[in-house]
Amino acid sequence: MIDHSTGAGAVKASAPVTVLAGPTAVGKGTVSAAIRARYPQIWLSVSATTRAPRPGEVDGVHYRFVSEEDFSSLIEQGQMLEWAVVHGRNKYGTPRGPVEKKVSEGRPVLLEIDLAGARQIRASMPEARFVFLAPPDWDTLVDRLVGRGTEDAEERERRLATARVELAAEDEFDITIVNDTVDRAADELAGLLGVRDLT
Ligand code: 5GP
Repeated sequence: MIDHSTGAGAVKASAPVTVLAGPTAVGKGTVSAAIRARYPQIWLSVSATTRAPRPGEVDGVHYRFVSEEDFSSLIEQGQMLEWAVVHGRNKYGTPRGPVEKKVSEGRPVLLEIDLAGARQIRASMPEARFVFLAPPDWDTLVDRLVGRGTEDAEERERRLATARVELAAEDEFDITIVNDTVDRAADELAGLLGVRDLT
C-alpha cells in the first residue's frame, strides 16, 4: 500500500487557483473530464499543446492545438504561466491571460498539468493550492501503466521507474486525493474548491 499520510501539509482554506497533478496514468484527465461535465462552476484551464488532436477532441475545449512556432512565440511573449515537454515528446503549457481573467472574476480555477508544470506554478504562484492525485495502491498504477502488456520489458521497466519517481513527489503537495473512483475523486476535488454538485 502507498502511505498517503505524509503528503498533506497545511491545506489552504481558499485559493484562487488549484493545481491538479500526479503520476502518469493515475487518471488526471478522467477526473478533470468529470469536473468539466459535472461542475461547470469550476473553470478548467485550456492548455496549449503542440500534439495533434485525438478523435473527439475539440480545439478550444480540450486543448488549444498550436504549431511549434505559435507555442514558441507564446513563450517569448511571456504568455505561458508554465510549460513543459511531456513524455519527451510534445509541449504543453498554461496560457496566462485566461487564468488571470477568471481569477479576477472570482471563478475557481483548476489547472490539470504535469509535475514539472506544477513545480513552476509553485515558484510563480505560491498562493495556489496543490493537489496530488494518487492511485489507491501501487498495483493499480502498474495495471494502468502497463496493463495492456503491449510494451517490451525495457519499456515496462522505464515506465515503472518513472512512476516511482513521480509518486515520491506527493510530499511537495498540500493535499492528496486518492483516485479510487473517478466520481468520488471529482466530488472531493470540487468540495475542496468550495463547489457542490447541482445536478
Ligand atoms: P494528454 O496528451 O494525454 O492529453 O496529456 C499528457 C499529459 O500532459 C498529462 O499528464 C497532462 O497532465 C499534461 N498536461 C496537459 N496540459 C498541460 C499543461 O498545460 N502544462 C503541463 N505542464 N502539462 C500539461
